[in-house]
Amino acid sequence: MAEERKQRKPIPRVDEESKPFWEACARHELYVQKCRHCGKVFYYPRSFCPEDLTQDLEWVKCSGRGKVYTFTVTYQNQSPGFRENLPYVMAYVELEEGVRMLTNIVGCKPEEVRIDMPVEVAFEDVTPDLSIPVFKPVGK
Ligand SMILES: [Zn+2]
Repeated sequence: MAEERKQRKPIPRVDEESKPFWEACARHELYVQKCRHCGKVFYYPRSFCPEDLTQDLEWVKCSGRGKVYTFTVTYQNQSPGFRENLPYVMAYVELEEGVRMLTNIVGCKPEEVRIDMPVEVAFEDVTPDLSIPVFKPVGK
């Protein structure tokens, strides 16, 4: 199983709360949760609404588009799976749905990344069952 992995980074731990999120990512679709009671859209996956603690939630499909809220460029990281990708961009992307997602910006040079830059989701296939959402400049 480990031989199938295309990267050596630690892989996310999938639990009951995050399972629908990761299943959607494996289909190359991005979903976040929405509270049926107050309408709040939120990420990361939880079993209750962070606003009013109700458990009446639904999953909503995202457009996959957003913009860079903030970012940093990492030049030094000697951990296996990370050092091969240096330099890389860590960013918070604000989705059109209003939530912010900690992710990587790919598909452009780190020096091309800007605050408010329009980005769209892409998926890195790690295993046949696990794909990780990253973001690239729109149209790239
Ligand atoms: Zn709520």
